[in-house]
Amino acid sequence: MESAALPSEPPRDCPRCPRLVAYRAANAAAHPDWFNAPAPSFGPNHARLLVAGLAPGRTGANRTGRPFTGDHAGLLLYATLTKLGFARGRYDPNGEDDLELVDCMITNAVRCAPPGNKPEPSEEANCRPFLASRIADLPRLKVIVTLGDVSRRNVLKALGLRASAGVPGHGSEFAAGPYVVLNSYHCSRLNTNTGRLTPAMFEAVFERARALLDGQGAA
Ligand code: SF4
Repeated sequence: MESAALPSEPPRDCPRCPRLVAYRAANAAAHPDWFNAPAPSFGPNHARLLVAGLAPGRTGANRTGRPFTGDHAGLLLYATLTKLGFARGRYDPNGEDDLELVDCMITNAVRCAPPGNKPEPSEEANCRPFLASRIADLPRLKVIVTLGDVSRRNVLKALGLRASAGVPGHGSEFAAGPYVVLNSYHCSRLNTNTGRLTPAMFEAVFERARALLDGQGAA
């Protein structure tokens, strides 16, 4: 496990990435009613499943303060989690709902929204100790679903492994210490609109997570 010296949730005014701090400030000036801070993880601390995205969308979690809430990617993610029993309640894109996660937590490898949805490698490194602590602070965690290869590589590094240790690609599965890392293509608008990721493909990853948690699938 990479150094877990930082807490699992960064402070609202985390200063570690100057470019992202400036972007937060610009968004706050333009939209003072938005959240405009590191997006906190969402879900119970006894979760056995962790979903790790890449970074908050500017008008998604950066606006609403809840991961994948308000952007296109959240539509498929929350619908799929609900279908597989990892979420319940009503989802609203403004977060004005009663949605809750069940045995599942959602976090991001980088907690602040990056311009163009693209964090710099240095920003991934800056935020990785929070990810390492997030993982370490889930005592029942068994399965980590990574959304996209950047997230997958960051999770492996947060676990103290080389990024090359795992297997890239959609549906890949890798035993990383006490955890199984399942990778999916990111449920972004680009991937879903082009058919690179279909709802059935996405659902299959969470069906596998469910089978692993229910003890029906050997890792
Ligand atoms: S991305 Fe992470 S490390 Fe960088 S400023 Fe935001 S919370 Fe801090």
